Amino acid sequence: MSPKRMLPKVDPDLCIGCGLCVAACPYEVLEMEDGLAVVVKPLACQVLRACEEACPTAAITMEEQEVDEQVAPE
Ligand code: SF4
Repeated sequence: MSPKRMLPKVDPDLCIGCGLCVAACPYEVLEMEDGLAVVVKPLACQVLRACEEACPTAAITMEEQEVDEQVAPE
């Protein structure tokens, strides 16, 4: 079973693709893909919640999620 850790979860129905969460994160955990914020570096997340606070539509919530063990450590 994959280990779990706190990570941002983006609600695609609420995300308006503004990119503020990407800009807010100093660890580059999120990137924009096709107008939607996605987690690209889950192991870099330090749970600052900067993305969550930056999001104007409350599309981001911090939740305990499984991390794919295939993702290379930073
Ligand atoms: S800040 Fe919120 S609305 Fe803007 S791209 Fe990130 S998740 Fe989407």
